[in-house]
Amino acid sequence: MGRIAILLDDRCHPKECQWECQAYCPVVRMGQECIVEGPTGKPVISETLCIGCGICIHKCPFDAIKILNTPQASESEIVHRYGYNGFRLYRLPVPPTRGIVGILGPNGTGKSTAARILAGLEVPNLGNYDAPASWERAAAKYRGTALQAHFQRLARGELRTAVKPQYIDRLSDERVTVAEYVGGTGARPRTALEAVGLASRADDPMPSLSGGELQLAAIARTLAAEADLYLFDEPSSYLDIVHRLEIARVLHRLGTEHGVIVVEHDLALLDYLAEKAHLFYGEEAAFGVVSHPMPMRSAVNTYLTGYLRDENIRFRETPVQFTAHPPKPAALRASRVVFGPLEKQFPSFRLRVGGGALTKGETVGVVGPNATGKTTFVKMLAGAEPPTAGTPPEGVTVSYKPQYLHATQPASLRDRITRLANDPGFDAAALERELVPALRLDGVLDVALPDLSGGELQRAAVALALARRSTLYLLDEPSAYLDSDERMAMARLVRRRVEREGATALVADHDVYFLDLACDGLMVFQPNPSDGVPGGRGEGPFTMREGMNRLLRGVEITFRRDPETLRPRINQENSVLDREQRAQGEYYYEPAA
Ligand code: ADP
Ligand code: ADP
Ligand code: MG
Ligand code: MG
Repeated sequence: MGRIAILLDDRCHPKECQWECQAYCPVVRMGQECIVEGPTGKPVISETLCIGCGICIHKCPFDAIKILNTPQASESEIVHRYGYNGFRLYRLPVPPTRGIVGILGPNGTGKSTAARILAGLEVPNLGNYDAPASWERAAAKYRGTALQAHFQRLARGELRTAVKPQYIDRLSDERVTVAEYVGGTGARPRTALEAVGLASRADDPMPSLSGGELQLAAIARTLAAEADLYLFDEPSSYLDIVHRLEIARVLHRLGTEHGVIVVEHDLALLDYLAEKAHLFYGEEAAFGVVSHPMPMRSAVNTYLTGYLRDENIRFRETPVQFTAHPPKPAALRASRVVFGPLEKQFPSFRLRVGGGALTKGETVGVVGPNATGKTTFVKMLAGAEPPTAGTPPEGVTVSYKPQYLHATQPASLRDRITRLANDPGFDAAALERELVPALRLDGVLDVALPDLSGGELQRAAVALALARRSTLYLLDEPSAYLDSDERMAMARLVRRRVEREGATALVADHDVYFLDLACDGLMVFQPNPSDGVPGGRGEGPFTMREGMNRLLRGVEITFRRDPETLRPRINQENSVLDREQRAQGEYYYEPAA
């Protein structure tokens, strides 16, 4: 079996190390040029000479090397390769002429690369990274398949595509109004702005938008374009649960008349949107393989099972399991954390939260639209923001993972762990034995925190928060930047840790699968303007059933359960079940018989 050697370019700092990779390589020591200095001053690792001993991986002080066996796909199936020791993508999804195709898979397996290729933004080099690539060559390679026609049309400029890119943070640098960014004052841009609920912000400058609003603007701009194929790369990031469900409806409608591809980690959303999907599997930043298209239901079920039968690929050890019934209310158990009513008055926002209690071992979700005060509430409990009225609970030790993470110091996760090891309030053993492996942080322990990807930083922050011995864990949007797999692993971990420690947790999040797996109850936040001033109101904890009903009533969306995996699935609008459930006011769990 062949080998793949990957050098993670942004982690490799050849001037700050002793070239340990080369110095300790047994093949180099035998006099062969297995690792040499390349033209950029960084090491080049020969995939033919490498014996796969793994020594360089462990010696590299920056965790910048990966050595893997080649995937179960042949060299000839490489669509694109970023350099000799770079990432490679095997196979491509089939672009639809009508209807929605989903793309589902871990971070760093080439989903965005595939999307950019299909959109005509990146010419696939077919593995020949050092030769110029062309659409004609790509078309010739896929002779006799749907991709041939697709690439030919791209080559001739006959296929119009519109792309909502994955990263939208930079849009806040655009010095134009929202309407200008979306496409002007014509009918299409106006309709698109209305469809995403951003019409009232049309004349505002782009830099004044929040993250969620930037995402909506980017989606509107894509909708406003006249295209044959639309691609949405992670449309739900920064969107709250309510907007996610609304956008789902908008994209669903687009798919009835056009070809649409959606890359998405929110499984409830993708499941509802797409008719079929390709799973991506592989190794982060090393390689990605694209599966055959599957009907949407089996794509998600396969993903949850962790085993792709067609291709005999196991990508997870254990299946993800849901339960169809709401968790049993903890009525008989004693309260562990009790908080009275809390209020916060900002110059132009007023938050009121009713009092509530959390019982031992309980994880409670905090749900609701953006800008309703979820973060402010969590901060008041964490002692990071003093309430205007009311007092946070006393005698409760809290551990807090903020919504926005900024790593500024060059320390690594290992440095942080070492420093905290003698702190009695810190469970270093659990961190090493349980949290680091469960959150797959082993490979990045020595990477400086500012060099971590968004998802890695998020997992590191959650691991550190959960390692602090506390009665109340406060996690603000822990699923942001994570792929579906990481979300589900984290949901189970939070739940298990809180149960085992007899602690409690409040978790603000927008991902329905994450909340369903992690939570025993919900607090629900709603907009609550008073005297013309925006405000928010938080209530609960409620049972999962009551909380979900309160949340979903507002968006008129109902869920059913998949018979095989028991995962929640969004009902088609106005289907028999949808109408029945709405009539009974049971939006999330099966109506009691
Ligand atoms: P995904 O969207 O599945 O997270 P991407 O397609 O963005 O994956 O990237 C897959 C891998 O390809 C990344 O981990 C990165 O290592 C590599 N990569 C992406 N873009 C480039 C590029 N322009 N140059 C070199 N490597 C890249
Ligand atoms: P959520 O987490 O539900 O999105 P936040 O608690 O972050 O909501 O914010 C609720 C509202 O409070 C927002 O409109 C925000 O502008 C306002 N707000 C939050 N923090 C401050 C602050 N430090 N000063 C003034 N206003 C603030
Ligand atoms: Mg991507
Ligand atoms: Mg928030």
